[in-house]
Amino acid sequence: MTSTPLVTRFAPSPSGHLHLGNARTALLSYLAARKTGGRFILRVEDTDESRSNDVFMQSLFDNLRWLGLDWDEGPDVGGPQAPYRQQQRRAIYEGWLAKLDAAGLTYPCYCSPAELSLSRKRQLAAGKPPRYAGTCRELNAAQQADRVARGLPAALRFRVPTAQTVSFDDVVHGSQSFATDDIGDFIIRRTDGSTAFFFSNAIDDALMGVTLVLRGDDHLTNTPRQLLILQALQLPAPRYAHVALLIGMDGAKLSKREGAMSLGDLRALGYLPGAVRNHLVRLGHSCVTDGWLDDAAMLADFDLARLGRAAARFDEAQLLHWQKEAVAHLSDEAFRDWIAEHLPSGLTGSQLATFAAAVRPNIVFPRDAMQWVAVVFGEPTALAPEAADAIKEAGADFFASAVQVFERGLDFRQTVREIGQATLRKGPGLYMPLRAAITGETHGPELAPLLTLIPAAEITARLSRAQQLASA
Ligand code: GLU
Ligand code: ZN
Repeated sequence: MTSTPLVTRFAPSPSGHLHLGNARTALLSYLAARKTGGRFILRVEDTDESRSNDVFMQSLFDNLRWLGLDWDEGPDVGGPQAPYRQQQRRAIYEGWLAKLDAAGLTYPCYCSPAELSLSRKRQLAAGKPPRYAGTCRELNAAQQADRVARGLPAALRFRVPTAQTVSFDDVVHGSQSFATDDIGDFIIRRTDGSTAFFFSNAIDDALMGVTLVLRGDDHLTNTPRQLLILQALQLPAPRYAHVALLIGMDGAKLSKREGAMSLGDLRALGYLPGAVRNHLVRLGHSCVTDGWLDDAAMLADFDLARLGRAAARFDEAQLLHWQKEAVAHLSDEAFRDWIAEHLPSGLTGSQLATFAAAVRPNIVFPRDAMQWVAVVFGEPTALAPEAADAIKEAGADFFASAVQVFERGLDFRQTVREIGQATLRKGPGLYMPLRAAITGETHGPELAPLLTLIPAAEITARLSRAQQLASA
């Protein structure tokens, strides 16, 4: 990989919330720029006004920042090529459209959607790949004037040169060649006056000095069209890296559930940004490190040469694995802040610290803390069936002895040792019924620290209730 600083960009259309596929593209683009000491640009592609809105745009900014990405140029931070919202760049596009026009490379197209769709159907029926038939390509001035007089709306098409080959070397897919004769003249300005994706996207990449376009490989076949426009305007072309689209576990397109999963959804579920990053960076890119990557390690690991063509499978089980890693890598303080909303108020610093340290191995999402908050600081919740079984198995006498020993107020080890001596039980046969009676569960955090947080009277009350249950 070259060490030339790369200028990359993320160019979302704000017509929905940021979903996983786009977040992955954003992350890889960001890493490519940061790794080489280049620049990362955020450009909002909102030329299609009917499908774009400010709520989605704000949510995009918010979720990208949550993921830990920051940009050097963008709608909210400005930059040398401002504005960075395509809606606000219309005058710029008009200037470049005028140049294409002056070079004789555009023409108005008056075909209606119905006519275009009929033409497509005919071509498909004839076994040909559908493309614009060139109906309006050779209209003379009088024919054009006639259509204007009839009030027909005009789109603007780019005149694709005949009998040429467009070639480029894709970072992921290698050498690519497309015959221009397979590319129909395409729309660069819609009938409503807005510029089409092919045009504004290519123009902006050139004007903004983007040197690497990293995007989903659904755009691979758009690239020759964009290169033709840049060539016609003598604008510099970026390099392209088309990464494999995300697919679901079953190898099919991301399911509705997975595909609809936005970053905001994951965040609301309690996923940590580092978990999402660690999964995404391994989709379409292979890391040399198998283990957890913090931000610096991720940058060090990233390499354009390891972008892959293999299908990138989004996998909830993997994401969950990284979530556990992310929790394990939180500082004590960050962990406490993370579960804070579920903790009762008024705890002392040392109670907080003891509780957090004890429950941490049992927590994957903040809401998981609630169960242990109830066990330690609240009324005991209902007994799990296995806990009731363990209590009955131990028998009433066991709990009668346990209550007596607990009332002496010894430390935990001493207490358990003496209960063991009094009841002639040891190992799980000793611990399990105690755990079951006190927490209502047969598994969970280490018992000793939890017991230091539960009032003694509450512990003996729970043991007495267990005694009653066992004798019933
Ligand atoms: N607005 C385009 C999209 O969201 C950008 C594609 C690109 O990165 O060039 O698909
Ligand atoms: Zn036409």
